[in-house]
Amino acid sequence: MLTRLIYHSENHLGSTGGKMIAGLNAIMDAANRNNQRDGITGALLFDTLWFIQILEGEREAISATLRRIMADERHDAVTMMDARPIEARQFGNWWMGLAMLRGDSEALFARHGLGPRLDPRQMSAEQTLALAVDLASGNLNRRIDDAA
Ligand code: FAD
Repeated sequence: MLTRLIYHSENHLGSTGGKMIAGLNAIMDAANRNNQRDGITGALLFDTLWFIQILEGEREAISATLRRIMADERHDAVTMMDARPIEARQFGNWWMGLAMLRGDSEALFARHGLGPRLDPRQMSAEQTLALAVDLASGNLNRRIDDAA
């Protein structure tokens, strides 16, 4: 059954440029490789404090991926925001699209009824999905087409 899962977690990659970028690249390399194999698509939004991830795919594949993700020490406090069956994918072009949320994303956040700083603890699953879909219309990296 096609399923969508949304969670947030605390980013432990640190806020210094080199370490964070190397860590993110390793995560994205593994995610793109494994998600293609497992038929998973989605989006990973992050800032220096938080990750928010949306995973779409068959329920068993999502569960297996989530077990690996939850054991990963590059983040902590994985917190479920939503899990439900879906009719169709919304991130079908991305094995895992990536978007950095910066301080200058205020206008984007305001469009979705969010404050100036990203705080997933205050966000509904609906707001999170709408924000990610908005980003997917222009600012996500690593489209499946690009990676090919
Ligand atoms: P490998 O290919 O052996 O590992 C992949 C790379 O990650 C290597 O560079 C390895 O050194 C490094 N690595 C693996 N585990 C750790 C660790 N615990 N600490 C530090 N470095 C490590 N995986 C997916 O398959 N799909 C996803 O969508 C996905 N999203 C993620 C989102 C977040 C926020 C995080 C933190 C991780 C995510 N991962 C995802 C990675 C996942 O946690 C596993 O690391 C990965 O699935 C392992 O892949 P692999 O078995 O191919 O291992």
